[in-house]
Amino acid sequence: MSSIIQLLPDHVANQIAAGEVVQRPASVVKELLENAVDAKATDIKLIIKDAGKSLVQVIDNGQGMSVTDARLCFERHATSKIRQAEDLFSLHTKGFRGEALASIAAIAHMEMKTKQDQEELGTHIIIEGSKFVSQEMAVVPKGTSFAVKNLFFNIPARRNFLKSDTVEFRHVMDEFQRVALAHPNIHFTFYHNGSEMYNLPAAGYRQRIVGIMSGKTNEKLVPVNEDTEIINVQGFVCKPEFAKKNRGEQFFFVNDRFIKSGYLHHAVMAAYDGLLKDGSQPSYFLYLQVPPNTIDINIHPTKTEIKFDDEQALYAILRASIKHSLGQFNVAPVLDFDRDANLDTPYHYKDVEAETPTIQVDGTFNPFTDDKTNQHYAKASSGSSSGSGSGSYSGYSKRVEPTATWESLYVGLETDTAESIESSPFTFENEEVTSSLFNDEDVEQAVQKTYQIHKKYIVSPIKSGMIIIDQQRAHQRILYEQFLLNMTMNQASSQQLLFPLDLFYSSGEMALIEELKPSLATTGFVFEDAQTDHIVISGIPVNITESEVSLVIEQLLGDLQDGIPASSYSQNDTIAKSMAKSLAVKTGSYLTEKEQDNLVNGLFACKDPNISPFQKPTFITMRVEDIDKKFAL
Ligand code: ADP
Ligand code: MG
Repeated sequence: MSSIIQLLPDHVANQIAAGEVVQRPASVVKELLENAVDAKATDIKLIIKDAGKSLVQVIDNGQGMSVTDARLCFERHATSKIRQAEDLFSLHTKGFRGEALASIAAIAHMEMKTKQDQEELGTHIIIEGSKFVSQEMAVVPKGTSFAVKNLFFNIPARRNFLKSDTVEFRHVMDEFQRVALAHPNIHFTFYHNGSEMYNLPAAGYRQRIVGIMSGKTNEKLVPVNEDTEIINVQGFVCKPEFAKKNRGEQFFFVNDRFIKSGYLHHAVMAAYDGLLKDGSQPSYFLYLQVPPNTIDINIHPTKTEIKFDDEQALYAILRASIKHSLGQFNVAPVLDFDRDANLDTPYHYKDVEAETPTIQVDGTFNPFTDDKTNQHYAKASSGSSSGSGSGSYSGYSKRVEPTATWESLYVGLETDTAESIESSPFTFENEEVTSSLFNDEDVEQAVQKTYQIHKKYIVSPIKSGMIIIDQQRAHQRILYEQFLLNMTMNQASSQQLLFPLDLFYSSGEMALIEELKPSLATTGFVFEDAQTDHIVISGIPVNITESEVSLVIEQLLGDLQDGIPASSYSQNDTIAKSMAKSLAVKTGSYLTEKEQDNLVNGLFACKDPNISPFQKPTFITMRVEDIDKKFAL
């Protein structure tokens, strides 16, 4: 039989390689930016159009290329960065594979202008789908400019696979931020469709982070600094009270390269142990320097993962240094995140002027008569439960502590708690009682007798036995249906805010919010005119309090990490789900009897009471026979 194996022509091989290197416009952005950094540029401009789908251009003032190099750089495995295998262990550059430009040129229209400092003239090359269209001398400034147009023009399947401009733009933004954060000493500018997204002058780490994230970042940062033999750690972590709902602002850089590491992330989280609200994520910007021979960056084609020689030691050092910083900057004592600010200032107490503490001496007090002691304690306890705090008695009397007064102290405490919970913003709107699930008698009973157990379930007897409702899921269902109804019927009412809220977001997040605005407006949000780095909200849905707004939006941005659904129906659905998730009463919240009632009634007024918006059961029932069986054992 004749031989059938052939070497693939270069342009085919390049197209195949491109599949690995170039997934989307953001990949081109990453490769071109990294090449500019490797060329020692001090000024780099990124210009994109249509989220990079029609144009990605990177202009640098770096070392440029000679005429020969300008041609060679498009060949596969053509690199100036390594010469032999050993060089892989002392890498100081971002690139080393020599395949990025060859890959990009295989699947796009590409134009390059480059000139070295000492030359009079530079080189201008046009290459389309791996074919050189022209090469000529040209008058160009020092440095290199690459323009990549019509990405995937010759692979329609890949082009169709690209997501919406918003999503692709976010990926580009991510890559830009990673490179810009890693190299604060380089001046970066970034334009999208003609408007300036960033202009970041050369600066230090802190200023660069603030420049990229948003105006309010500075006050949130705590510096981290640790220098040991195997690693140098620098950078910033965010104070725990500013932790976010999503992981968007977590950055590790190893030797100036952005990397992802679940293991090191875990080390950071361990340093925050006990300081974060459930599920919240601290922002961090950590710059690690390690000897290049102790890492292997060659294990992942897009090179965001990395292998360390001594991971365990790095873990321990990272954890300890962050813990130290959090402690040193006095953020560790901020423990009580769950506390609602309203609870700290009871309304009846808010406008009362502080009393000057006085010392009252009870002249008639005789420690040896029981009667007196009791009276005295009764007075002390009533003083403390009213919160005036002015009663201060001689330390001597405190030695005798009759149980009766202990109890009265406790009673005071109990009512206090109940009051504060009553005044908490948690209310149910839906009072309607309609039920297809139970006959009237059942409902009657269900409404009358509910018990909360473990601050998690609402239990109630029904005719056939009992029902156990998961409070969080039930409330999610109720809110979800409310939001969805309001959105589809466009009937949401909104409460006007006295002082509009200013909320700051990164430009990636701003782009998302911009796209979501119409849908959010149907839930009752009222937005003022758009700004570049923040939104101004002057009205909010009636079932949200002002303090919940940023949480709701943050959760929503987190839920939309993978892109905004295309149809408006599923967009509404996602928003309703996300808002229901953030606003629903959580497991662990105490509910008054009235609130329990409302929850039960609200749930069974829903179209779909059986499942939460996330497809989990909202309640279970136990029949008397089932209970009987348990006792029969
Ligand atoms: P790698 O970066 O892995 O070496 P690339 O395909 O990205 O491979 O680039 C090939 C070569 O082209 C680089 O090694 C470098 O010599 C040259 N090059 C690419 N971009 C630039 C630039 N912006 N300025 C100067 N030289 C560049
Ligand atoms: Mg490269």
